[in-house]
Amino acid sequence: MSAGFRDASRTRKGRVLLASLCLLSSLALAQPAPLSTRLEDIRELGRFVPPKALTALAEIEAEARASSARERAEFLELLSHAYRGVGDNPRSLALAEELLALGRERQDNLIIARGLLSKAYVTFSMSDLPQSHQLAWEGERVANLTDDMPTRIRGVIASGQSFAEEGNFPPALKKLQAAVQLARDYGKPVQIVMALNALASLYGQMKEYDKGFEALAEAYEYAEKTNSPGRMSSLKDTEYGLSIATNQPQRGLRALLAGLEYEKQIGADAMIAGSLVNLSDSYLKQHDYPRTVDYANQAMAAARLLKDESTEATARLNMGQALLGMGKLAEGKRSFELGLAWYEKANDKPEMQEVLMEYGSALERAGDMAGAVKAYHRERAISNELFEDRRQKATLELQEKYESEKRQGQIEVLKRDIVNRNLQQRVWWLLAVVFAMAAVIVGFLYRKVRHANDQLKVKNLELKQQSSRDPLTGLYNRRHFQEFMRTHVQAEKRGAGTSGEEIVGALFLLDIDHFKHVNDTYGHAGGDAVLRMIADSLREILRETDMIVRWGGEEFLAFLPAIPRSGVEEIARRLLSGISNTVVQYQDVEISVDVSIGFAPFPLVPLDRELPWERSVNLVDMALYLAKAHGRNRAYGVRGFNNFQNTSMEAIEQDLELAWRAGFVDMSIVLSQGTTHPDGAPFEQRSIA
Ligand code: GH3
Ligand code: MG
Ligand code: MG
Repeated sequence: MSAGFRDASRTRKGRVLLASLCLLSSLALAQPAPLSTRLEDIRELGRFVPPKALTALAEIEAEARASSARERAEFLELLSHAYRGVGDNPRSLALAEELLALGRERQDNLIIARGLLSKAYVTFSMSDLPQSHQLAWEGERVANLTDDMPTRIRGVIASGQSFAEEGNFPPALKKLQAAVQLARDYGKPVQIVMALNALASLYGQMKEYDKGFEALAEAYEYAEKTNSPGRMSSLKDTEYGLSIATNQPQRGLRALLAGLEYEKQIGADAMIAGSLVNLSDSYLKQHDYPRTVDYANQAMAAARLLKDESTEATARLNMGQALLGMGKLAEGKRSFELGLAWYEKANDKPEMQEVLMEYGSALERAGDMAGAVKAYHRERAISNELFEDRRQKATLELQEKYESEKRQGQIEVLKRDIVNRNLQQRVWWLLAVVFAMAAVIVGFLYRKVRHANDQLKVKNLELKQQSSRDPLTGLYNRRHFQEFMRTHVQAEKRGAGTSGEEIVGALFLLDIDHFKHVNDTYGHAGGDAVLRMIADSLREILRETDMIVRWGGEEFLAFLPAIPRSGVEEIARRLLSGISNTVVQYQDVEISVDVSIGFAPFPLVPLDRELPWERSVNLVDMALYLAKAHGRNRAYGVRGFNNFQNTSMEAIEQDLELAWRAGFVDMSIVLSQGTTHPDGAPFEQRSIA
């Protein structure tokens, strides 16, 4: 038997697992509190003193029945619990049904859940366990559709206890642990104590006593906060059960005595009677006969007041056994027989069997051999009866099993027929599904291919860009420049600008001075940073329409398609100073470099014939070489040719310096600001014509 909502189970052997109870410290029933508050108080009262709850409910019946559906429901529920508490199960059941009907009529899940749970409790009291369990599980399910935490927690506890009663411990444990968690989330100690107490009892059933005591210890901590003797008492019951099971009679006794004190504080008469009978049982086990008689007497008196015949009978048996132990044969036998009579009336044969065995051995110890034999005979008779009952039942079960197997066989044959027919149908369905899926897959693949093609186009475009760009600087590469010159430049026409001055193209070839030194000092990465810096500077100094090319490792070519002829040197100067004045931050150091430049207008036209672009670049390269040779950080430019009929392009290309000295080539020299001419005089631009 388990704890929680269940009624206390008080057997002759002691209550092992008992009901959880609680008490509100002050029940202000006399004050005109709102109906809901009064109902709440009665709920707590009803848990341990149902007769008082009945009285209180009777007083508010008219008001409650005329109130809102929820309050009416609360009233019906409490009334059902109270009648169950005083043993009037039929009334309790009728009220639970009324509650359920109200919930269904209102389509109110909370009321339905409470109706189901109330019905579960009362069917449990009526020993209809299968129905009680079904109701508890259904109650839990419906409760979970609501957001009423107390009801949900009760639902989960009831569900867990139902599994426990079936002996199905794993789901029981899962449920009760979940109930504890849910109660913790909800945060009210009352629910936490209830859930932990149920869990502790379950551990007792599972013979996991350490865990049981652990859960119990925690329950005590929360119970302190509820300030409720009823709850404390119910925990003491659980402790008593666990103590007896772990062979700690002294601890069990202490728990019982403490529990009794709590019960007396709140006037929980039914519980008091149970505790008293358990106390008599405990002392009997310790062969403390005077105390056994004392507590059995008290238990009998309390039970008689409550008209609780079962407890009264149990007390009589304990008393009888104690009297026999004290050698009071006649008195003891009388008490025992009275107790036995009730068990006979209740027709609880297994229990009677056990009682008669104890009776026999007690008589034997007391020296009444004839009485002992008589008791054993009676036990045998019941045992035979029970055996006959069980045999008949077993035969019936076998017959039933045979019948059901026969029916099952017929069903199987029928099923096979249906299966064959279904199989054919299924094959057709399967084919249809396969075709549908194939269509979907083909469509999907088609879309995927289209998507891939689109992506391919984008990638190709990117690739083309990548193949025309230098990855380090992002500038155009040499190949792109060659392609460009071949396809575009030839077709372009140039003429005079708006100012009337001639507009020309121009080529600039730049080479970093002592770049090896940069690499050697700062490493290759430092050199790369410088290359990127130069690219940035070029983009800044030149125009967007100018073509800037990474020509080689540390060489850059710029092609300016249209500038005034007189602006060419100015550009060279800007390039020199712009780059010299820029520093690049690399790690902790600042690096700056100079460049040397060779340049020329484009196209060059010696003797009315345009020089091909490749030869122009070649000349510019030679001019760059001159700039290097004459001190670096300067620009040498080919301006034009003189007296060309007396020389040849080949001769000039052979030795530019010689041709220049000979006057065949007109060159300009641009120095960076602050540069010293080899002769010692600083100057900006010098022209040797
Ligand atoms: P000069 O003033 O005569 O031009 O001296 P220099 O050291 O700049 O000339 P040189 O042509 O002897 O050296 C060029 C160096 O540039 C050699 C090479 O290792 C380095 N270089 C070429 N390409 C790259 C590159 O992409 N990154 C880096 N960090 N260095 C490069
Ligand atoms: Mg170089
Ligand atoms: Mg260099």
